[in-house]
Amino acid sequence: MLQIKNLHAGIDGKEILRGINLEVKAGEVHAIMGPNGAGKSTLSSVIGGNENFEVTEGEIILCGEDLGELAADERAHKGIFLSFQYPVEIPGVSVTNFIRTSINESRKAQGLEEMTASDMLKKIKEKAELLEIDRKFLSRSLNEGFSGGEKKRNEIFQMAMLEPKVAILDETDSGLDIDALRIVAKGVNTLKNEDNAVVVITHYQRLLDYIVPDFVHVLMDGKIVKSGGKELALELEERGYDWIKEEMK
Ligand code: ADP
Ligand code: MG
Ligand code: MG
Repeated sequence: MLQIKNLHAGIDGKEILRGINLEVKAGEVHAIMGPNGAGKSTLSSVIGGNENFEVTEGEIILCGEDLGELAADERAHKGIFLSFQYPVEIPGVSVTNFIRTSINESRKAQGLEEMTASDMLKKIKEKAELLEIDRKFLSRSLNEGFSGGEKKRNEIFQMAMLEPKVAILDETDSGLDIDALRIVAKGVNTLKNEDNAVVVITHYQRLLDYIVPDFVHVLMDGKIVKSGGKELALELEERGYDWIKEEMK
């Protein structure tokens, strides 16, 4: 579903990602862990098409299609969903209106007609029920005065509505409390199926108590230096990252 081949990327001439290789198949959950500054958020931004970063080598392929030349919104329309560590507030635009616009923009880009108002409402109702999201929440202004948990709830709702092929959730610096963790985990576990894939980027093992990954990768100094199963996350929690550096030597 998602293939990353020898990806090198950086900013202002400074290389941050130094040859990333990753293959994510449909139906899989991958976790990417690593110390602060390893390049985890950069990887997520680069996959999403953030133009602040320059890709100097390598490929990002979604369902056989090279995303290299596509802008961020085009990648989103192809099925890449990125969580935002610092979501923007849009006063006067409700959660529902924002998602309605996103969906219709995406459909337009794919040459599809707008979703009818009744289909949209049906889908909103279905997803909101699934994720136990209050109706009142849906009419609030986007991210305005949202608590950490509400921001996560909104993000997961967007994900549920957009039904991406690959969702990349970067939770590193968001200081999730236990409620927010549960919201993210419940959302991911509810939406996960055999036709999509999830990449969870996390600094801490605790999120993986709730979202059980099929694979865990350790990112260090811009490279994936070790991969394993879910037990690797527990080992990292217990032993930190230094032993991997030693192993590499
Ligand atoms: P992580 O998410 O693993 O903590 P990041 O991807 O945020 O790591 O950062 C990796 C490295 O790239 C760090 O050294 C960081 O300072 C640098 N970096 C990230 N974003 C920028 C930026 N916009 N400008 C300059 N340096 C950046
Ligand atoms: Mg960081
Ligand atoms: Mg980060």
